[in-house]
Amino acid sequence: RGGIRLINVTKRYPGQGTPAVDDVTMTIRGGEIVVLLGPSGSGKTTMMRLINRLIEPTSGKIIVAGQDAMGLDPTELRRHIGYVIQNAGLFPHMTVATNVGLVPQMLKWDKKRIAARVDELLELVDLDPAEYRGRYPRELSGGQQQRIGVARALAADPPAMLMDEPFGALDPITRGNLQDSLLRLQDELGKTIVFVTHDIDEALKLGDRIAILDKGSRVAQYATPQEILLN
Ligand code: ADP
Ligand code: ADP
Repeated sequence: RGGIRLINVTKRYPGQGTPAVDDVTMTIRGGEIVVLLGPSGSGKTTMMRLINRLIEPTSGKIIVAGQDAMGLDPTELRRHIGYVIQNAGLFPHMTVATNVGLVPQMLKWDKKRIAARVDELLELVDLDPAEYRGRYPRELSGGQQQRIGVARALAADPPAMLMDEPFGALDPITRGNLQDSLLRLQDELGKTIVFVTHDIDEALKLGDRIAILDKGSRVAQYATPQEILLN
């Protein structure tokens, strides 16, 4: 449950000479945190967007929930994968509750069930539901917005989460706190997490395994933090 496989995946954007992702094959096991670590331009975001089916591979195959991701419709895919991006990507004109409830609403849950789920999720990310559910994103700190982003991605309880530099824009203390929260959450919920960063310390702290992408957008190494530190 929650495993993701990439098989010889190549992505070349139109007009691009070198591919953004070059023949990547990797298996992400259910329940593990895999960190994609690499310099800017090495294809990390492209890999996330491929897995989330926001773009199509030029060649190769991506397997999500035991099925070819291209065969899953977007709503169905959201049941399997939650997505968190750098600046939380909250809709500014919607309250916290509406933002967190977006995917359940898309899945046509009834209102009562959505409201109860929203409160449960706010508790889970350590925000008091009574205080925060009616707020707008601009009334939250960066760290609180990221917590809401995580709550939204968890809404339909997907087995896997994609997190694209979710804590990159935060101050070091808030960032450390959110990393600790994520590890606690992971202990509790056992999600498969694909986490993008270009910060080696963050990678070593969070990753069960780390995939190091090189400038040529290939996976140069895929190993545990211990193995990487020994090299
Ligand atoms: P990273 O997330 O590691 O910084 P990206 O996946 O964003 O890397 O980008 C990988 C390469 O693909 C870069 O050379 C980038 O310029 C290019 N690229 C990314 N998105 C697009 C796009 N929509 N169209 C054309 N080229 C793109
Ligand atoms: P559209 O292109 O129709 O606006 P997007 O795919 O860009 O839809 O997603 C809309 C919002 O939902 C974005 O803010 C994005 O961060 C969030 N989102 C995208 N994919 C997922 C997902 N799998 N699970 C939860 N939220 C997602």
